[in-house]
Amino acid sequence: MMKYLSTRDRTLRITGAEAVKLGLSKDGGLLTPESIPQIDGDFLTTLSKLSYQERTAKVMALYLTDYTEDELLGFAGNAYGPDKYDTPAVAPLRKVDGSTHCLELWHGPTSAFKDMALQMLPQLLSAALGKTGEDKTVCILVATSGDTGKAAMEGFAGVPQTKIMVFYPKDGVSQVQEAQMVTQEGENVGVCAVVGNFDDAQAGVKRIFSDPELREALARRGYLLSSANSINWGRILPQVVYYISAYCDLLRDGEIRLGDKVNFCVPTGNFGDILAAYYAGRMGLPVGKLICASNRNDVLTDFLRTGVYDRNRPFHTTMSPSMDILVSSNLERLLFHLSGENDAEVRGYMESLAKEGRYEVSDQIKSALREEFWGGFCGEEGTTAAIAKLYKDKGYLIDTHTAVAAGVLEQYRKETGDQTPTVFVSTASPYKFCDHVLAAIGETPKGGGVELLDQLHAATGTAVPRRLAALKGKKRRFDLTAEKAEMDNVVLDFLK
Ligand SMILES: *Cc1c(COP(=O)(O)O)cnc(C)c1O
Repeated sequence: MMKYLSTRDRTLRITGAEAVKLGLSKDGGLLTPESIPQIDGDFLTTLSKLSYQERTAKVMALYLTDYTEDELLGFAGNAYGPDKYDTPAVAPLRKVDGSTHCLELWHGPTSAFKDMALQMLPQLLSAALGKTGEDKTVCILVATSGDTGKAAMEGFAGVPQTKIMVFYPKDGVSQVQEAQMVTQEGENVGVCAVVGNFDDAQAGVKRIFSDPELREALARRGYLLSSANSINWGRILPQVVYYISAYCDLLRDGEIRLGDKVNFCVPTGNFGDILAAYYAGRMGLPVGKLICASNRNDVLTDFLRTGVYDRNRPFHTTMSPSMDILVSSNLERLLFHLSGENDAEVRGYMESLAKEGRYEVSDQIKSALREEFWGGFCGEEGTTAAIAKLYKDKGYLIDTHTAVAAGVLEQYRKETGDQTPTVFVSTASPYKFCDHVLAAIGETPKGGGVELLDQLHAATGTAVPRRLAALKGKKRRFDLTAEKAEMDNVVLDFLK
């Protein structure tokens, strides 16, 4: 049976269900599989003939050995079915030119790629409660930079034995994102704006998690805290699937031959999405370079180039808010693997990050980073230019986050001359960020919020995602704002 250990304590050994239930290890480390299952050419050939749901069950079963493949297939059917996803392909590839493909991950209920994991996690968690004999109600706390919160609520709404409370930075999300969150339905959901930026909200949630007295008080009320942030293994694993699936689609469509390498270019914030691509490569998927695309908050670009992670820098609010992050939590899992699973070394880096806001990795890790990754960033002007260029040249409309990846991919190719077929990842529908997308294609946004959906539709003739169109006329249900120091009380109130 596959066991999970902590990046800060490799002697810990818990089951997959326990790892999903806990979200984060008690020692502050990230729960991580003790070994990485291997796949081969036969596996990929088999998968290339299967549906996305079947691919999901086969890949996830390799890691979650305490769930059956049938069980996982049932979850995948619920997560990615026609009532949730607007295309049977679920995560379709769009060919942009001979060697460039775009992996569209936003065809789910909230029009962002977070749905890929958050339609799955609640089902994994709900089953985990049964598997571990848990009788408490799980309360999910989420700090969101915009997309996670909505996607998590949509996944957890109405799921028995769960509640969910979402914190978002008051002025750090788009109007459509805010409208999506404050209109969320469901009796077990709560939403609160935090005065500050995403890191403030995330630090607040982390503080609550690491407060033993608060946990104790909540336990007495029958609640157990857990996380749906991308530090939960149940978030990373469903994301591993779509990289393998994209490769299988390229195989099936004759774009590549078995064994050919493919690069992935991923717009990155918390390092979750690109970490999933790293796992796919470690499993044996033929991956060339992993191109890590950041916006103006370029802490990861510097890290990949120098080996120094330094969060002591200005925080920028950008038009790709889901990537406005200075502390990329999932990087800890990469450090764990690249250090040869050296928990003491990881603890050292994380202590230094907590104390000084920076750390420098070993030469061994530096050379592994250079080998497998390439980091670049795309500023605001570059983001706008990438949207305009792809729309003008190819008639393809992308959102601001995807544009960061497109911009960085262009830099990468210019700088390296690498011709390897490349998939860049599209993480949100352009309709989630109408104002910036309209401006980028030369339109003047008129009005605000959800009215812009119609304007973008009129200007481009592309389809408005069904659920976003339905936001118009939906009633606002939540109106709570808190200082970050008050977040504990918000949680205590919610779980009265
Ligand atoms: C969350 C998000 C990202 C960043 O993903 P990470 O897993 O945090 O790296 C990129 N684009 C969009 C639209 C997102 O919602």
